[in-house]
Amino acid sequence: MIQTAQPHSSMRTNLAYQRCINPTCAATYDTGELHTSCPKCGYLLDVSYDWDKAAVPDKLSDFEAMWSQRFNPVRFSGVWRFHELLPFAPQERVVTVGEGQTLLQQADAVGKFVGMNAGQLHLQYEGMNPSGSFKDNGMCAAITHANLLGAKRAACASTGNTSASLALYCSATQLMKAIIFIGSGKISYGKLSQALDYGALTVQIAGDFDDAMIRVREIAQRLGIYLVNSVNPFRLEGQKTIMFRVLEALRWETPDWIVVPGGNLGNSSAFGKAFMELKQLGLIDRVPRLAVINASGADTLYELHERRGVRWNGGHVDLDPIREYNDHMDRHGIKADTLASAIEINRPVNLKKCLRALEFCEGVVRQVSDQEILDAKAKVGAGGFGCEPASAASVAGAKLLRREGVIAPSDRVVCVLTGHELKDPTVTVAYHTTDQEVFQKTLGSRGVTKASHANKAIAVPNELDDIIKAIQLYA
Ligand SMILES: *Cc1c(COP(=O)(O)O)cnc(C)c1O
Ligand SMILES: [Zn+2]
Repeated sequence: MIQTAQPHSSMRTNLAYQRCINPTCAATYDTGELHTSCPKCGYLLDVSYDWDKAAVPDKLSDFEAMWSQRFNPVRFSGVWRFHELLPFAPQERVVTVGEGQTLLQQADAVGKFVGMNAGQLHLQYEGMNPSGSFKDNGMCAAITHANLLGAKRAACASTGNTSASLALYCSATQLMKAIIFIGSGKISYGKLSQALDYGALTVQIAGDFDDAMIRVREIAQRLGIYLVNSVNPFRLEGQKTIMFRVLEALRWETPDWIVVPGGNLGNSSAFGKAFMELKQLGLIDRVPRLAVINASGADTLYELHERRGVRWNGGHVDLDPIREYNDHMDRHGIKADTLASAIEINRPVNLKKCLRALEFCEGVVRQVSDQEILDAKAKVGAGGFGCEPASAASVAGAKLLRREGVIAPSDRVVCVLTGHELKDPTVTVAYHTTDQEVFQKTLGSRGVTKASHANKAIAVPNELDDIIKAIQLYA
């Protein structure tokens, strides 16, 4: 635990505090502390607010007036321009690198692939963030909190994007040193290159993501390093704003569905919290349904929620099926395995918060294969803005839910595309390649058998006539 020099009592009167999500515990802590779980009961913590003390606008459209203040970095940020809805730090102390300038796009070609009526499918491109993934929404909030606490070092375990984001914030602001933990082998080059290029201390441990996660928690505690993994409740505060921007782009109308890939379940948890608070504050009257999509090679949430019936249950989560399933994975040596490396996680740390979000948003969980993910990804890319494999799980999941009739063709659906296309060019090139060996090595060996939506390069001899003939044949 890291503490500020200030006495706690002086902070108790603040409008923000931390609260254990376990209703039978509900212990509170002030925002001058950082815990990775409730010291009393071990559950996760929320950042909570005494909204009566906050300057919350009467209606969401009031945020539009702030657009005219874009010269102020706080109001330029797609996260902090909603400061009134995550007021845990004074405005003059927030850290920003201009995150959250993202785009909600109507995507009819992808909508057709999913099985939606024209105009009903929207893609929220979070890959447009400074480090190329939605993680920046949360990282600016975590670094703001770390800086308030006077932290000089911040650490995370990462499948890649959290470390890229942490590395970027640390180097761009020079506020603290980034230390990142990665498992061996699985990180994509796009992401690793960012962490190295931005100068983070990069610790590669012999193990997978789940191993790295356990270690970083231990080490952060031991050395008093600020931990920015999504067990950090402040990060999730920033991630709420993805939903604020979605609502804004839809002119403050609630869509029918939000579809999001599920890895460590920080995003789905943050989205649920965003809607709970907006509802509580009377800023929306309808809540969208939430669909969280696992890769079939990393489907713990699906297994627990859909097969074993684990529910939030007003906070009284039945822990036995979770323990049993964890034991089952241990006994059989089951390790997460998917080409969608950003969601290759078998022990999602935000499981309980996600269950809460699923309950509040009448949510569903599905799993999709790597084949389905890559086909959906090719469709997204063909629409002009690409995404990384994990992101396309949302589109593949929407397609599945449409096929099942859970999503209606007339529903308004938002799929969150969590990361940029260039994060993982290896998989993209292997999907479109004409080289069978490349395909086999990267995708075939992982169970992907075909590339139905591939856009293959055409091979032509270096002869003018042949080149002209080939072009006229295809375009
Ligand atoms: C981190 C990440 C995810 C998983 O998000 P969670 O909040 O951990 O569920 C999905 N896609 C991308 C691109 C990511 O970087
Ligand atoms: Zn507790």
